[in-house]
Amino acid sequence: MFEKEFIVTCDKTGVVICGCRCFEFRGCLCRHALVAFQLVGISSIPQRYILKRWTKEMRYRHSLDEYNMDDNNLLDESSCYSYLVHQTVKITEISASSNVAFNVAKEVIPMLLKRMLEVANANIVEQPSEEIRV
Ligand SMILES: [Zn+2]
Repeated sequence: MFEKEFIVTCDKTGVVICGCRCFEFRGCLCRHALVAFQLVGISSIPQRYILKRWTKEMRYRHSLDEYNMDDNNLLDESSCYSYLVHQTVKITEISASSNVAFNVAKEVIPMLLKRMLEVANANIVEQPSEEIRV
């Protein structure tokens, strides 16, 4: 199998540049750069290549950010969907951070789902259907 070759430059200060430009495009180091680090004797990834978006710090900072949307913006289905995705991601991140938080989620989420199903089923009953009237 043909593999493309890339030129990698790496110095002992931990600055690496690879021709595949993986870090520049994806924000993570390629295998070429990791091998180059090994060859120059660098045994851990230099801090400059650990982007904040990959750290726990960023994950929690993001999850605690408020979703900037007031009730007036929740008029269309797309906005509602985005809002709900944001909220459920926050719930998931916080719930996965500790056993206590996970147990709270395990206790509360089934109640929320039950309530949502009640509302959804009530809406189905409230909406008259032409097929049922006939
Ligand atoms: Zn590379």
